[in-house]
Amino acid sequence: MIKTDAVIVGAGPVGLFSVFELGILGLNAHVIDNLDRAGGQCIELYPDKPIYDIPALPECTGESLTKNLLKQIKPFQTKFHYNQRVEKLEKKNNCWFVTTSEKVQFETPNIIIAAGVGSFEPRKPPIKNIERFEKINLFYSVKDKNKFKDQTVCIFGGGDSALDWTVELSKIAKKIFLIHRRDEFRAAQHTVDLAKDLEKKGKVDFLTRYQPLDFQGNGKLEKIVIKHDNGGLKELNVDSVLAFFGLKMELGPIANWGLDLEAKSLKVNTENFQTNEKGIFAIGDICTYPGKIKLILSGFHEGALSAQECFKRARPNEKYIFRFTTSSSDIHKRLGVK
Ligand code: FAD
Repeated sequence: MIKTDAVIVGAGPVGLFSVFELGILGLNAHVIDNLDRAGGQCIELYPDKPIYDIPALPECTGESLTKNLLKQIKPFQTKFHYNQRVEKLEKKNNCWFVTTSEKVQFETPNIIIAAGVGSFEPRKPPIKNIERFEKINLFYSVKDKNKFKDQTVCIFGGGDSALDWTVELSKIAKKIFLIHRRDEFRAAQHTVDLAKDLEKKGKVDFLTRYQPLDFQGNGKLEKIVIKHDNGGLKELNVDSVLAFFGLKMELGPIANWGLDLEAKSLKVNTENFQTNEKGIFAIGDICTYPGKIKLILSGFHEGALSAQECFKRARPNEKYIFRFTTSSSDIHKRLGVK
């Protein structure tokens, strides 16, 4: 059981800045995200797109904003728990007990839900009982690329993930089949060109206009059947399959935590962004209140105000005193400023 001043659900931009606002008040936080990295929508949906409305940053990208937010919270040495979803919340006395899908447990007076539009979940191939192969040799992301060394790997998809991993894994895999339902790819042209070069060298086979039809195997995935637009079938023996069909967003277990909802968003007050449960806050895209705008900057403000209430709950015997970061020696110490 991990004891902490706050658990933050979601490592999107708002969850990250919330770490900062808690940190300058001397509160520690653990951050949980279903994905394997920080950044939320900024990284998953528009890493290269310019953003023009972050105060004092005339232009940044989803990627550079995330990088800078991570830099800003570095002094707090926050622990991130990736690849797991927050599943269960339980209240005992004035404390909350949080359990993730990986069975990691936390005890905390404060939960800050910065879960955006819900957790990002992989879209799965429409094949029955596909779960029996998951985490054995069917994956929707790459955690350890060395797993694929000397293997025959089938990669499904036509976006950046599919093409990036085709190029990367071709360096260690025995053979890569890149299977896509169209002739055109949506990935960066440079990566598509690299993959096509690898095809000429015999490291990669492109199988376009094919879709998955059946996955077969005993205990693990051994053979896949794919179907061409013209109806022709092809069977491939595989060691591993990577399916990159994009992500969908699901509110998931958050809907079952007994919190007041309005159109899939959590209702909060605008004083400290607390939900109907004391000690549970909702900030960023997931929350709603009269006048709410789903912008990153609104989430930052919500994070600042919720942190103050978190302080009061985590340090009931201390007085909260507002301080500017420019002039507080306590804050400077916490930030490692000399
Ligand atoms: P998200 O960024 O959605 O992050 C939430 C995180 O929580 C995700 O990583 C998710 O996996 C995780 N999560 C959810 N549920 C769970 C759970 N149960 N367990 C574990 N993890 C969970 N905003 C601007 O201000 N300016 C712009 O120019 C702008 N442009 C945009 C362009 C596009 C194409 C899009 C799609 C959005 C844009 N936005 C813009 C909106 C902005 O991206 C969002 O307002 C912002 O990402 C919200 O941040 P967040 O941290 O609240 O949530």
